[in-house]
Amino acid sequence: MAATFSAFLNVKTIDVLVVGGGVVGVTAALALQQRRLKVILVDQQSVATGCSFGNAGVIASSAFPFSAHYRMANLPATFLKPSSPAALNWTSAPRLLPWAIQYARATRPDIVRRDTSLLHELCRDALHSYEQLLGIDLPPINRCGYLAVHLTPSELGEATRLNSIRTSLGGAVRMVSGPDLVELEPAMDRLMAGATFFEGAAHVTDPAAFVTSLADVFVQRGGLLRYNRIQSLESKGNGEVAVRGTREHYSPRAVVLATGVHTNQLLVGCGHHIPIAAERGYHLELDIEPGFIRRPTALPSLGVVLTPSQRGLRIAGISHFGSPGLRARPKLLLYGLKRLRRLLPMLRPRPGFEPWTGERPTSPDSLPIVERIPGHRSIFVSCGHGHLGLTLAAVTARVTADMVMSISSDYSNQLSSQRFGLRKRDGNG
Ligand SMILES: Cc1cc2nc3c(=O)[nH]c(=O)nc-3n(C[C@H](O)[C@H](O)[C@H](O)COP(=O)(O)OP(=O)(O)OC[C@H]3O[C@@H](n4cnc5c(N)ncnc54)[C@H](O)[C@@H]3O)c2cc1C
Repeated sequence: MAATFSAFLNVKTIDVLVVGGGVVGVTAALALQQRRLKVILVDQQSVATGCSFGNAGVIASSAFPFSAHYRMANLPATFLKPSSPAALNWTSAPRLLPWAIQYARATRPDIVRRDTSLLHELCRDALHSYEQLLGIDLPPINRCGYLAVHLTPSELGEATRLNSIRTSLGGAVRMVSGPDLVELEPAMDRLMAGATFFEGAAHVTDPAAFVTSLADVFVQRGGLLRYNRIQSLESKGNGEVAVRGTREHYSPRAVVLATGVHTNQLLVGCGHHIPIAAERGYHLELDIEPGFIRRPTALPSLGVVLTPSQRGLRIAGISHFGSPGLRARPKLLLYGLKRLRRLLPMLRPRPGFEPWTGERPTSPDSLPIVERIPGHRSIFVSCGHGHLGLTLAAVTARVTADMVMSISSDYSNQLSSQRFGLRKRDGNG
């Protein structure tokens, strides 16, 4: 059954309103429903039309924060280099300053170590969390690992260093080359390079269809799905929240904002601000038959991942930073594809397809932000998943549901935006 929005709603039956039908909101709604709460899920458009529509489909088994790769001092040169997979929307720069200050702090070696360890812990829990949330209703997930191809000796050296950290953190990784690499992915034989194989990683071939299937399960289990743009929230004295939308209003006992890069717009009236940047990524469908590769294959120096898709193959990636709504530059991906075609000339855009773009909600330390809004006991947020929304959605869904139920969790401090040491804003910040 396709996810649809029904016309009738009895607002008195709602325990929790989840705003945002991306992968983070849909999984949060499922986790709250699993706690026997009556949940309504609302999106301004439809399920999986935001960033969750077009990602690379990887459920990662290991991840490093962005700050582990890019020192603050190197960022301007990285952004200016034409061949770089990371770019900045320079007109957004003044608004990104507070985020950049937090990013600079996140590059401190002790903080990088802490964040790397926590990210690995969260990734390890990713598949198990989906299984716990969905049980027999879990849509198909391909569990054949993930490959990162290293093109030069210096890339190989850096990968060896990172892999020793991954192994020390319990990650199942191994270096492969020559015949072992060709056996895993015969199409990669031309690259003649070494690669890292992540055995515990998994992928979905159509991320939008995956999220829509999860929303269908939510509806089948009794959840309500509505089409409505939420405009404002206000905490009421009785613990409920007055939620105003363009089509209807609600008075739930709790609200979870899973609104990705748009989250701060809804927090204005709460006097709270979350440090997230918009990090545009892009994808394009390639004109190649299904089966070209079996598993997602990343080329980290080009900032792209090739993922088996429903049509054949999708190229996805690029880190284009700015503030929400930043102007898209699809050429960043096309440039990456051009460089890739020097190695794999058979990879061409599929006729009739244009690059898709989505804005990742990215925190300064690459960790999600899950918290109860200070001074608002019934308003919660789950956002800032950056490059790992599909991977970590089911994990943070459980953390969110625990928080709403006032069940203490190891993660409530670690994932709160209080970790950035920000003070509560006065008035409309
Ligand atoms: C190119 C690319 C590749 C990626 N690859 C991967 C990958 O391989 N693995 C991985 O784990 N992650 C990947 N990601 C990251 C992942 O896609 C994101 O982290 C994730 O989609 C974020 O989900 P979200 O639910 O927070 O946001 P979104 O999917 O953007 O959902 C937010 C929703 O909120 C709704 N909304 C906003 N404001 C309102 C309002 N006022 N009222 C009602 N509704 C509202 C929007 O319509 C939207 O549907 C990739 C991202 C990109 C761009």
